[in-house]
Order: sequence, then C-alpha cells, then structure tokens
Amino acid sequence: MSLIVVGSMAFDAIETPFGKSDRIIGGAATYIAWSASNFTKPIKQISVVGYDFPKEELKELEARGVHMDGVQIKMDEKSFFWSGKYHMDMNTRDTIDTQLNVLANFQPVVPESYQDCEFLMLGNLVPAVQLDVIRQLKKRPKLIVMDTMNFWMEVALDDLKKVLAEVDVLMVNDSEARELSNEYSLVKAARKIMEMGPKYLIIKKGEHGALLFHEENVFFAPALPLEDVFDPTGAGDTFAGGFIGHIARTKDISFENMKTGIIIGSAMASFCVEKFGTERLKEITRQDIDDRLQRFQELVSFEIELV
Ligand code: AMP
Repeated sequence: MSLIVVGSMAFDAIETPFGKSDRIIGGAATYIAWSASNFTKPIKQISVVGYDFPKEELKELEARGVHMDGVQIKMDEKSFFWSGKYHMDMNTRDTIDTQLNVLANFQPVVPESYQDCEFLMLGNLVPAVQLDVIRQLKKRPKLIVMDTMNFWMEVALDDLKKVLAEVDVLMVNDSEARELSNEYSLVKAARKIMEMGPKYLIIKKGEHGALLFHEENVFFAPALPLEDVFDPTGAGDTFAGGFIGHIARTKDISFENMKTGIIIGSAMASFCVEKFGTERLKEITRQDIDDRLQRFQELVSFEIELV
C-alpha cells in the first residue's frame, strides 16, 4: 500500500519580478514528495542526484516518510540544474538553462521493496526513464499519473507518446496541452490527448485554476486569489503531490474523487507560490491545509435560483 514518486531532484536558479534566488533545491520529485507526504506514507522516491546535493535535504524528506532506496547518488557527477525567469504576470516563464548532468544517463532501478505499489506518480523527467519504471513494475499499479513538460515534447516526443499510451492520468499546463495536440481549444486538445492513452487529463492553468477531463465530463478547480505570489516554481508538482497524495490516502480512483483531488492539489499549490522554492511547503501544518481548503469551499460555493 504505497505510492511511488519518480522525478527530478535538482538545483534551480529562479528569477521573478520580485527577486532572484541563487541555486536552491528544487526538482519535480522534491516538490511532489513534500506535498504528498501531508496525505500518505510511505512514499517511495525514484530519482538521481549528484555529489553536490545536500544530504540534509534527503534526510528531511526521510523524516517525512519518504524512502530513498530508489534515489541514486552519483559521486562523480553534478545534480540536474534548471534556471528560469518569470514574466510580469507570473503565469509564463522562460527556461534560461537546463543542464541534465546526472539525468543524462540515468538508469532507474526499482528496488524490490517498491514492488506492489498501488499508485505511481511519474513526475517530470526523461520520458524513457518514466517508461523504464513502468516496465520494471511486476504488477501494474491501480493508477498511473504522469506529468511532463514542453522540453520533452521538443526533444523526446516519440518516447513521450509511448509513456502516454501506458498511463491513466496526464497532467500538463495549458500551453503544453496545445503544443501536444496542435489544437488551440482546450476541449479539442483534451479529446485528442485522451486518444493518445490517458483516460483522464488535467490541464493546469496557473492562477486560473485547473480543468479535469474524462470522456465527455469536465470539472474545474479554481486557484486561490493570493495577495502575493513570490515564486510559482514547483506549483505544478506541488499540485500533483496533493492530487496523488489524496488519491493514495483514499484509494478511490473515481472521477468524483479526482474532483476532490484537484481541489486539494490547488490548495497545496497555493502554499508553494508564497515563498521561494520548497520553503513554504516545509512550514505548513495540517491545520493550515484545512483552513485553506475551507477558503476554497467559500470561494466557489453559491446558491442560485434557475430563471
Ligand atoms: P513546475 O514549476 O511545477 O513546472 O516545476 C518546476 C521544477 O521542475 C523545477 O524545480 C525544476 O528543477 C524541474 N524541471 C525543470 N525542467 C525540467 C526537466 N526538463 N525535467 C525534469 N525536471 C525539470
């Protein structure tokens, strides 16, 4: 009964209109694990880092119930490095640099203790590695969720399509959905993407919330209007962690429960953006999460009489 999380663990350098960070800890699997560990344990992490990745960061995650048997430490290579710059609206960003380093030749090994997992979260990573992990599992998990990004659409589209054919839920942002489908309308894009494999599609729209598609059904979760957004980096991964953490906790993979999952994902993402990197995620308590979920409920509940 557990969740496997696969993804990058990284150093990031971020520039926003409000500030600039030096190399700080980031990576898709880092954010997912911090977020999901509020809801479910153990989390079985699969990733790779270099000699320069601080051991304390791994220890802090271990203390949250994140197992590190599947995280390789390459003593002669550097960790993955990504740098990005946000535009004034904070919804769009440019990737300034992507240095794959340890990710370039990463061959994941799924430890025996990870077999029999019920849920698999494939965070943003080389598509061939995502596929390799699926193939190494002796039993198919109950639900496979995948995140990816435009970078992989541009450099590894064929592999990406192979992974898509194997997963249940895909998460991408709106521009990635358009790029993958060649459709501007998100409804048409969703239809095309669901034909590529995933039965469910989640399209993240930054400060405009997220859409969940399944067959002819659509559900919308808002994002919380926040007074200050410092750094949106990792918001998508934190959303993914909240979503899969909730699904793994409840073990319910119905569309109805996924609706709750995207509300929880949105609530978690709203914390992430309040400070740089993982800082805010490390501070929050169960009570903070509950209070925020309450605010989400108030944000969207209304009564109406049909005219
Ligand atoms: P998000 O803001 O949720 O899209 O995720 C940002 C995180 O993704 C950062 O912490 C980066 O380290 C990580 N990242 C950026 N580019 C890649 C990539 N090509 N593959 C894997 N992880 C990446």
